[in-house]
Amino acid sequence: MTYEQHPFRWTPGAEQRHATLAPLRDHGAEVETLCGARIVVDRTELAWLRLTCEPCNVAAHEIAGVPMPGDGPEIVDGQIAGAR
Ligand SMILES: [Zn+2]
Repeated sequence: MTYEQHPFRWTPGAEQRHATLAPLRDHGAEVETLCGARIVVDRTELAWLRLTCEPCNVAAHEIAGVPMPGDGPEIVDGQIAGAR
């Protein structure tokens, strides 16, 4: 069995670590994220230490078919139940 990479990748930008389905982009490029935001990719070293964007994290777990650890929010039709 071969390892299949998930279709999303983590990319830092807009003060958080977001996940995206877009191909890997260079620093300064604009990219659409799983949470629906358009961010400017930040490939500086410290950017990788920023907090994970929660909606992106939930969406990434859903794509990977892995439940959120602990009492994560419930996902209904691709949206976080009870959010906003
Ligand atoms: Zn995000």
